[in-house]
Amino acid sequence: LAYRAYTLERERHQSLEFLYASTRILHQSAELDAAVIAFLRQAREMFHAEMAEVTFLPANSSDAVLRTVVGPGEHVEVLSVVSPDPDDIMSSAGQEQPSMLLTPSMSDEHLRRFVQGRGLKDAMVTSLRGESRVIGAMLVGNRLGEVSTFGSDELRLFETLANHVSVAIENGRLEQSLTQLRALEKQLTHQAFHDSLTNLANRALFADHVKQALARRDPRPVSVIFVDLDDFKTVNDSLGHAAGDLVLREVARQLMTAVRPTDTVARFGGDEFAVLLDGVEDSPEAADIAERILGALEQAVEIDGKEVFPRASVGICLADDGASADAEELLRNADVAMYRAKRDSKGGYRVFEPAMHERVLERLELRSDLQRAIEANQLEVHYQPLIRLEQRQISGVEALLRWRHPTRGNIPPLQFIPLAEETGLIIPIGRWVLNAACREGVVIHERFPREEPLTISVNLSVRQLQSDTIVADVREALETSGLPPSALVLEITESVMMADTELAVSRLNDLKGLGVRLAMDDFGTGYSSLSYLGRLPVDILKMDRSFLAEDKNEPLAAAVIALGASLALDVVAEGIEYDEQALSLRELGCELGQGFLFARPMAHDALHDYLEDGAAWRAEDEQPETHAA
Ligand code: C2E
Ligand code: CA
Ligand code: CA
Repeated sequence: LAYRAYTLERERHQSLEFLYASTRILHQSAELDAAVIAFLRQAREMFHAEMAEVTFLPANSSDAVLRTVVGPGEHVEVLSVVSPDPDDIMSSAGQEQPSMLLTPSMSDEHLRRFVQGRGLKDAMVTSLRGESRVIGAMLVGNRLGEVSTFGSDELRLFETLANHVSVAIENGRLEQSLTQLRALEKQLTHQAFHDSLTNLANRALFADHVKQALARRDPRPVSVIFVDLDDFKTVNDSLGHAAGDLVLREVARQLMTAVRPTDTVARFGGDEFAVLLDGVEDSPEAADIAERILGALEQAVEIDGKEVFPRASVGICLADDGASADAEELLRNADVAMYRAKRDSKGGYRVFEPAMHERVLERLELRSDLQRAIEANQLEVHYQPLIRLEQRQISGVEALLRWRHPTRGNIPPLQFIPLAEETGLIIPIGRWVLNAACREGVVIHERFPREEPLTISVNLSVRQLQSDTIVADVREALETSGLPPSALVLEITESVMMADTELAVSRLNDLKGLGVRLAMDDFGTGYSSLSYLGRLPVDILKMDRSFLAEDKNEPLAAAVIALGASLALDVVAEGIEYDEQALSLRELGCELGQGFLFARPMAHDALHDYLEDGAAWRAEDEQPETHAA
């Protein structure tokens, strides 16, 4: 008895300390999770229990009930959301629960189900009472060790503890933290389903809405419209990201006004938007809406006094065409239709048809084939000579990539280069071309030495120019091959040079710093302003072959040649197929030419035969000439 009295006294003393400690923990700890866990650990120890738990009831009944559990053993569950369960006396204790001891053999069926459902041998529960409401409930369960079960002494202590805790919670930072936590949670949920820039639904929420719409589709057909801005990159690149964001927000606003309030508008990231039309009858009706959307987007957006006219390509897929049974398919098909719209004519719309699919599958197949093309040795570089028109001598070669596809045969670069750009494969492929061309250059120089060594021209794509590694890639190709930088020409198309002025100029300067020369490719097809041309560090203009395609373009060709001369740039005329073209170009003062008239692009062996032969152009009406190699 004396011993028991002593231990009880000691335990009470400890209890007081425990209460102080608990209150301190709850007040002081900035880390809410850690505070609650530490407190529950202590409660568990104090009552020799296997587990301890606290459930927090929100002030607002629409908010989540949260629970933190410690035990059994090392198990810890922190502020997890409790799903509603009528048997759970902890979370349904919105109304006040008396403190009580629980056992599996209780007569109250409701309580018994709770105890058994939780697998508890014995437990104590008590409410956490605040000033104006019940703020939660606490439980310790499964008494450990000798002492058989919780007694009324412990229950009273537990109740006292609960009162302290309640006060601590209401006055202290726990309640505050919980409110913050709930607000944060709400925000996170919102963020998880919305696009932060436009506040539209995001892809996840949109997909969910489509699923729901499809599930109850019976009387109301469903369709999805995909909207993708045209040339948005140019806006971003030329006016800056802030301007791009402004355009995206404005487009979001226009989309919202163009559809009914019941439709869902979403942004899928980048410049992609989608609209879910719930209850659209047929494709004419969907097409009407698509036109309305396109019309709405035509409104100018004003940025720093400049007007930007967003344009978009739109794809539509109706759920009731049999081909688009589930949400994912519906989305994909609308995307496919959009892609077609973009390809056929930007700024239009297309309704999905199953035949569109095959094209897409083909593209996907080609894309994965391309991934293997380098290792599988299917890529090859061909070389087309550049000719000095006056001297009738070869001055260099342009490297042109070829893909020998194992089943499809030769695929022209205009088909697979855009694919490589889209997928980013252009970076490794372009690097491979650079290295191959530089190596070939060294071989040619050794085998066919001349006073002025042949130049090697390599095409660079947008993505390559934008990539941070391009300067290092070129330097490395030069160093490993040993090709003198002055023999390398990098060709970049005009539109690319113009797209991102600042980056382009600094990149081009970095490249020039390596000692290579730069050519503006396809000149005349882009939108260079002539004043700008002078600022770009280019050495060569390659006049697009459209200038030769029609006779009426001859004055233009003359103007380009004169322009080149005035800027001290070499001009290369591309696509020369006939003698007359070559002769009149020469008369206009164009020094360099390239085209089928002289030679087609050739593989390594054919090029070497060609160089061996010393062949160059001679017009039929002129005397054959020989020239020193
Ligand atoms: P490009 O740089 O303008 O290359 C010239 C294109 O015109 C080549 O087409 C060439 O075969 C073709 N051509 C040459 N002479 C004549 C002619 O007299 N008449 C006609 N009708 N065409 C002629 P190709 O080889 O099909 O290449 C097409 C485009 O693919 C190239 O246009 C270039 O933009 C791109 N390309 C080729 N190889 C590469 C590469 O390694 N990297 C990158 N990024 N692009 C490449
Ligand atoms: Ca070129
Ligand atoms: Ca060209």
